[in-house]
Amino acid sequence: ALNLTRHFKIGGSLFAKPKVLRAVEDVSLSVRQGETLAIVGESGCGKSTLARMLMRLIEPTSGQMTFEGRQIDRAKGRALTELRRDMQFIFQDPFSSLNPRMTVGRLVGEPLETHAPEMSAKDRRAKVSELLAQVGLRPEHADRYPHEFSGGQRQRIGIARALASGPKLIIGDEPVSALDVSVQAQVINLLADLRDALGLTLVVIAHDLAVIRHMSDRVAVMYLGSVVEEGPTDEIFASPRHPYTRALLSAIPVAEHGRARHQIALTGEMPSPLDPPSGCRFHTRCPFAREACRADVPALRVTDTAPGHRAACHFFEEIAAEAPLPRATEG
Ligand code: SF4
Ligand code: MG
Repeated sequence: ALNLTRHFKIGGSLFAKPKVLRAVEDVSLSVRQGETLAIVGESGCGKSTLARMLMRLIEPTSGQMTFEGRQIDRAKGRALTELRRDMQFIFQDPFSSLNPRMTVGRLVGEPLETHAPEMSAKDRRAKVSELLAQVGLRPEHADRYPHEFSGGQRQRIGIARALASGPKLIIGDEPVSALDVSVQAQVINLLADLRDALGLTLVVIAHDLAVIRHMSDRVAVMYLGSVVEEGPTDEIFASPRHPYTRALLSAIPVAEHGRARHQIALTGEMPSPLDPPSGCRFHTRCPFAREACRADVPALRVTDTAPGHRAACHFFEEIAAEAPLPRATEG
């Protein structure tokens, strides 16, 4: 475990036919081992497309995705099996991702058959009990079927199944957004505890910044297929630089983020990725937009706040000076 700088890189563009759908464009992200990266944005921002590319359900047309130096988008055969062992996914809707005719024991034990075929049936049962315990379920739950469980418990089953192969990286595509608010925190806390206990790296895709605030180290905010702001979670919350991030933050209730919520109200719908706006793609909804924003695409630039904090806005310095954020009153 000397290799502390292992990076998981996500990059590339997706141009699907028949029209040129710019679902994800030149996204370049990396996550360090043991870190949690949150990818946040409204529906249609491209975050699910990104997740599907990582799962190899769709292929990027250009760019590359690597995991510990292995190229995800090129892996075949044995290399792909190994990637699938090391990278696991947790889905938004645990019910539709779990085969209703399989017992929980089989659902959780199935990845072991693929990734540890030498394991005896007895050892596999013991391992399934251990996995269920890790996610807060009981050994006797192995004999039941998914429909006998609540949404939160089903997501725990999905997590146990994801852990079965002994992954290094877990990617959650909106893992709690289908759950009751009261259960969301429990599942998020479980993921954070498992990450710490098992040394996992997490990538969590969410549309809600509040959900990932306390569990992520870094946040990447996506809008219409591009990353518009990226940085340490604390910096993103304390000193957001992109107007879109500020709008997302102002939608979080004060009680949850300790700051007046009057910042920026988002107006209008997200434009279609089939016909994205010119220049800064956010200009049709940005209260600070001016002429240059329609013409020039802003690059991700390092901000004044912290290393690794970058924003893609031509005018974030001026905007921060003109419209400073009130100080947070609570962590
Ligand atoms: Fe708004 Fe212009 Fe900045 Fe885009 S570049 S976020 S339109 S001010
Ligand atoms: Mg989605």
